[in-house]
Amino acid sequence: MSKPTLATVWLDGCSGCHMSILDMDERLVELSEQFELVYSPLVDYKEFPAHVDIALIEGSVSSDEDEHKIRQVRAHTGVLVSLGDCAVTGNVPSMRNPIPVPELLDCVYKGNGLLQEQVPTTRLPSLLPRVRPVHEVVKVDVFVPGCPPSADTIFTVVSELLAGRVPDVAALSRFGA
Ligand code: SF4
Repeated sequence: MSKPTLATVWLDGCSGCHMSILDMDERLVELSEQFELVYSPLVDYKEFPAHVDIALIEGSVSSDEDEHKIRQVRAHTGVLVSLGDCAVTGNVPSMRNPIPVPELLDCVYKGNGLLQEQVPTTRLPSLLPRVRPVHEVVKVDVFVPGCPPSADTIFTVVSELLAGRVPDVAALSRFGA
């Protein structure tokens, strides 16, 4: 019988949640025997597969590229997990929400002493007017708060999902922890 498939996805986050996945250390080796990793920034797969059983999502939805990606992931995923406070609430990326995007870009790219100050207009995803948590854009099945969630929490969540159970996340993790 084929193994369940697992993906990890990186939207607007600092990669700390992915680092916490790696912090499972030797347990990651043990766990990885139970699934096939089919898409992740940690490996070199370019295309999201036609079907993935479990997808762990780091980061919030901040750009048109993020929005396109998460809609595509949702359409091809069985159990979608919001992993970490940025995915669950918007967290750090959403601190820009009170600032209009043009003002924000001017602040970042102009008046900072660089030569040829200008806002880039090509080869960059467009920022959405407001950063949103993942569940405001697509349906989320499991919420795992934490900044980042601990390796222990991620291990338990993934183990429970692979066993076909719904993890009791409230007993495992809390916002900011
Ligand atoms: Fe980084 Fe925390 Fe956001 Fe995870 S929840 S991506 S660790 S800021």
